[in-house]
Amino acid sequence: MGASSCCLENMLINEIVLATHNAKKLVELQVLLGDSGIASLSLAELPDTIEVVEDGDSFRENAEKKAVQQAVHLDRWCIGEDSGLCVDALKGAPGIFSARFSGENATDDLNNQKLVEALEKQKRRSAHYVCHAAISNPQGEVVFNAEGKCFGEIRLTPSGEGGFGYDPYFEVREYGLTMAELGNHVKSVISHRAKAMREVTRFLTTVHQ
Ligand code: IMP
Repeated sequence: MGASSCCLENMLINEIVLATHNAKKLVELQVLLGDSGIASLSLAELPDTIEVVEDGDSFRENAEKKAVQQAVHLDRWCIGEDSGLCVDALKGAPGIFSARFSGENATDDLNNQKLVEALEKQKRRSAHYVCHAAISNPQGEVVFNAEGKCFGEIRLTPSGEGGFGYDPYFEVREYGLTMAELGNHVKSVISHRAKAMREVTRFLTTVHQ
């Protein structure tokens, strides 16, 4: 993980696209990138973006696909991000299928319902979130990769209003509170996404100067 040696020379990044269509994830990414001094653009601000098919076998593969395909199409620097929940008792599921865990017309509520049903009879409900972030240059070369994880347990009843997705059910180990109870401010420091994006921000700050 880290910077690729292929194309680090003559790199000057002043503006970068956050290549996600997930509005709540986008807000978190914008906050996390705030310290870098680099302007960020969302896909919604650009007139002509593409829908990237997430058919990779890993978080990394999907993050790189999102970054590279959008970067080449837009001819801009892009950050691709793929994330999800891995539950030990479910052999790592839903994993890269977290957004679509309950099927084609998945919603956060339906995904959480399926998760609770799958774990109701399990004593061990340990889990972790993963976030993989990749940066592509406009030529489609991945110049940086970072991954963050956050460990906890799945609860059978929801609690809290913050975050999104599985957050009301995900109890963060060190705090004994769900990510949704901890709220967006604490999440922006301790989450899987915060950990990956701290590395991204450090990298961007270095090449920005
Ligand atoms: P992606 O957009 O394909 O990366 O899918 C991410 C999915 O993983 C989301 O739709 C959520 O279901 C789940 N997920 C990722 N990050 C988080 C998080 O920070 N909190 C709760 N759920 C998350």
